[in-house]
Amino acid sequence: MLKLQSLSKTYYPDKAYPVKALDNINLEFLSDEFISIVGESGSGKSTLLNILGGLDKLDQGEMIVDGTVYSNDTKYNLTDYRREAVGFIFQEFNLISHMTVHENIKLALSTFKMTEEEKDKLVDKAVEDVGLSYRVDNKANELSGGQKQRVAIARALVKKPKVILADEPTGALDSETSAEILQLFKNLARKGRLIIIVTHDEKVAQASNRCIRLKDGHVVSDKLRENPILISHEEVDHSIVIERSFDLMAVFALSFHRVKEKRWRYILISLGISVGIGGFILALALGNGVENFLEKSSSQIIDGRKITLMKEDEKIDNSLYFEVKKTGLAEIIQPEFNLQARLDQGKSTEYFGIKTLHKEKYQNIYATPILKEGSLPKKGKKGIALTEAIAQKFIKEGQAVNNLIGQELSFKIMSPDTLTHYPSRWDSQKLVITGIIRQPFMGEDFAYIPYEDHILYTKRSRFLGKNAPVPTNVFHVYLKDKKNVAEFYQKFKDSYEVITPDNVLKNMTKVFSQFQVAILIVSFLILFISSVMAGILFFISVLERQKEIGLFKALGGNSRDIRWIFFSEAIIIGFMASLMGVVVSGIVQLSTSSLIVSKYGFDLLDIDVLHITIGVVFGVVITAFSALLPANRATRLDPIKLLKQE
Ligand code: ADP
Ligand code: MG
Repeated sequence: MLKLQSLSKTYYPDKAYPVKALDNINLEFLSDEFISIVGESGSGKSTLLNILGGLDKLDQGEMIVDGTVYSNDTKYNLTDYRREAVGFIFQEFNLISHMTVHENIKLALSTFKMTEEEKDKLVDKAVEDVGLSYRVDNKANELSGGQKQRVAIARALVKKPKVILADEPTGALDSETSAEILQLFKNLARKGRLIIIVTHDEKVAQASNRCIRLKDGHVVSDKLRENPILISHEEVDHSIVIERSFDLMAVFALSFHRVKEKRWRYILISLGISVGIGGFILALALGNGVENFLEKSSSQIIDGRKITLMKEDEKIDNSLYFEVKKTGLAEIIQPEFNLQARLDQGKSTEYFGIKTLHKEKYQNIYATPILKEGSLPKKGKKGIALTEAIAQKFIKEGQAVNNLIGQELSFKIMSPDTLTHYPSRWDSQKLVITGIIRQPFMGEDFAYIPYEDHILYTKRSRFLGKNAPVPTNVFHVYLKDKKNVAEFYQKFKDSYEVITPDNVLKNMTKVFSQFQVAILIVSFLILFISSVMAGILFFISVLERQKEIGLFKALGGNSRDIRWIFFSEAIIIGFMASLMGVVVSGIVQLSTSSLIVSKYGFDLLDIDVLHITIGVVFGVVITAFSALLPANRATRLDPIKLLKQE
């Protein structure tokens, strides 16, 4: 069933001094033998066992298992061989201490395509065979040495391999427990398994039905004993070969245990990632906020039909009025003057600008400031409406701005003449505050008065007569239809500086997108640093999980399975971190949202499900990516060395 032909193995610990661990070994084993391999330390016993177990490669000769030839010439697949043919039992048990007996044994089945129930049934049977049913739910670290070795034997048995290999299985046990374990092996041998045990223990050698002695890599004796083990043929437990598949659940469970165990370091790294993801989500949410703002602006704040015509430092004369009229596109044409106001209050003086409202008959057609309280002033009634921020300056502490409505205050108003530089004066006006205007989201704060009053105060400040024209270099034109903006622009763009609603919006959203880009850059920086740190953690994890990796390899896990050990860890962390990131962004939104909405009437940070999904996926992908190098490194490690580590 298992045959070794001229098998040799040489190690090169130092290029100049090769060590011939095995030299021209020829052996044949039958399927129902209980074999002990003895010999002095360094004679090559472990090397032989490792080659038989597929943990190490032979370099000369061949190994033939049930007709399949494994040699250095054929590119054979050791992982499949390990998975299907071999059950390995280690001197140091190599159990995963924080997992239960049942979980430890089931791990051996994680590369098999079976249902959970089928696996559980096999595990229960194996536990019964080693007499540990009463301990099945205990954690491995709660067991005695003998019990641990029973679990290790059950783990080797559970997949019903053709060969069971054990390297000094009683080496770490006291003599009484050794006897029990030996009895267990004898029972297994009776069921028709090929059992090969490397041992120092004379009792084990006595109990076997064939004893092979090695010396310096040679077989020096091969003896059959008189006490052959009686196989009862009804009892024979046949091997099974089951298709390869990979139990992600088992690996995730493994990683989950680990993350729980090392939670503090993972929580810390997750915090880093979560801030990055949170920022990323907020940047996306800000994009929505900009849209909300544009929607709001185009309906209320910015008039889609308003065009400003300007000349730099040059008076625009009245002929413009007729020029615009002639196009037939405009509804209102009005000059714009700069009006400044001042309120003296005891020692302090507050300054602010005044803008003009539309003539009353146009107030329903074109955008007017949004009232929060009170009403807009009517022409000739000496009224004024203030924004919240301006009103705030005029009230006593603790008072509500609404209290100002109806109050008459004495303002000083001036219109500086920046074109002709004629003198102007502060003109005193007693004005009644008629309303409070909602704070504009961006740009300067203004108070508003009727168009007619605006002109009147301008003339008074500039010493101009009632019918005298006021020189200006700024005209506002309100079109009948916003579809005509482009046409109007084309007509005047050569002679004037023309500002269209689009220009205004563009300028306003520029700030937003700069802000958005800034958040994105910072988030990506944080994410980059955190994922590099996560990568370092995964490298540490590779070091700390060497035993697990070695075990997985010995159990027949292939490179993909090993990679998943780390990807699963990374996915758990990435998911945890991203969820924390969602919470971070949620907190930021909740704490700012009500403030912004109440003040400006739209939501600046508008997180939706899509952003959360993108954020979480992004976080998981980035973290998984950081596990790429460590995971690849793990696949290249040698299982024998990994398992030797303590
Ligand atoms: P045993 O198990 O009988 O004590 P081994 O099979 O472990 O012996 O070792 C046989 C010989 O091969 C020894 O001389 C040992 O030093 C050498 N050897 C074993 N493994 C390695 C290795 N990975 N690298 C170099 N030399 C090794
Ligand atoms: Mg050894």
